[in-house]
Amino acid sequence: MADRQLDERPQPEGVYPVSSVHSEDRGVYLDHQASTPLDPSALDAMRAWFLEEFGNPHASEHAYGWRAAAAVEQARAQIAAVIGAEPPEIIFTSGATEANNLAIIGAARRADPRRREIIVSAIEHPSVLSPTLALREQGFRIHTIPVSPSGMVRLDMLEEHLSERVALVSIGAVNNEIGTIQPIEQIGRLCRGVGALYHSDGAQSLLALRVNLYLLPIDLMSFSGHKIHGPKGIGALYVASDTFRAVEPLLYGGGQERGLRPGTLPTALCVGFGLSANGIHKSFESIRDHLRTMSTYLFEGLRRLRPDIQLNGIPSPRHPGNLNILIPGADAADLIQRLQPNVACSTGSACSSGSIEVSHVLTALGLSADDARASLRLSVGRLTTKTEIDKALSHFARCFEESIKSLWPTSLAIPSGIGAKH
Ligand code: PMP
Repeated sequence: MADRQLDERPQPEGVYPVSSVHSEDRGVYLDHQASTPLDPSALDAMRAWFLEEFGNPHASEHAYGWRAAAAVEQARAQIAAVIGAEPPEIIFTSGATEANNLAIIGAARRADPRRREIIVSAIEHPSVLSPTLALREQGFRIHTIPVSPSGMVRLDMLEEHLSERVALVSIGAVNNEIGTIQPIEQIGRLCRGVGALYHSDGAQSLLALRVNLYLLPIDLMSFSGHKIHGPKGIGALYVASDTFRAVEPLLYGGGQERGLRPGTLPTALCVGFGLSANGIHKSFESIRDHLRTMSTYLFEGLRRLRPDIQLNGIPSPRHPGNLNILIPGADAADLIQRLQPNVACSTGSACSSGSIEVSHVLTALGLSADDARASLRLSVGRLTTKTEIDKALSHFARCFEESIKSLWPTSLAIPSGIGAKH
């Protein structure tokens, strides 16, 4: 009865039942840095933890709770093994957003009163930048380190601002918009030199580099399940064992996650995250090679259509699946609309799409607002094929032509210089 009532409820507008879209009509997905498809083996493993083994993993008095707790601990150990950490150093969170907030706000709250400065780079994700805005209100001084035109953090400027007044440096490993990989080991060593904590947003890192926190001078690092073929709604903060007391929790409750992040853990999501992390770790080299082959194939295809297309950000070191391209004179938002529902890509990070502001990452590279608006992020995945890319390219070809026609009525000749760099 309850089920029938649910079924008969009017569907909210704009929500498409999955079954109404045939897989071949779903379009070519080139937005893997926004989210990746769930690993089917992770889904299989998760099912039982939703349906049969629904016990609370913190219920310590019965076998349902013990089995759920064992599954969570296995997932924790899998994630720890992938990033070179000890299992107790993994704190589950709802995703990298929460992990970034916990690291930055939590470390600032426990900082030595003589350390009232925080350093970030200009190209950090909003979930790093926004907490620092809140901390500025509370009297912290925030230094924003610029990047070079190729998207690499200016280490000379970082060194200039590092001092014993700095509590925390937060500079991400792999950028979500332009894919640039920062020298996290060098940054960590500079932080150690002045006794500042180093937090790195690693949400995009696990498909781009091997992270070994046994060796890296990093105190705190954030991760996200859905960027690595795990489920959405789960992530983790790595907290080095000797850093534990340096972070204050943001929430208070039942003391779970060693008191740093209370709340009942979602067993199924932890299991899915653990398995997906293990899966990408085992196939890391082959996934990375595939992403590189596919992104190169896509870039070459796009350049055949528009030879004036340029890559934003340094070609290497870079996330192998990332392309951020400047299509001179284009309106990227309009182009993406024209590509619907055939190709999924984005104008910036998914998190800032929808807002009319131009990407702070692209402007930090020195791009004009017009060039930032003419830039697209395309990100291929481990399942992307050349056939799909060919299909996407045919849609790009059509849309490039359409947008030129819309600019130049048929009665006018298209000037030969159109598309040239301006
Ligand atoms: N940091 C980076 C670099 C990201 O790409 C993202 C996701 N867009 C996040 C943080 C936030 O991750 P989550 O979706 O897990 O909250």
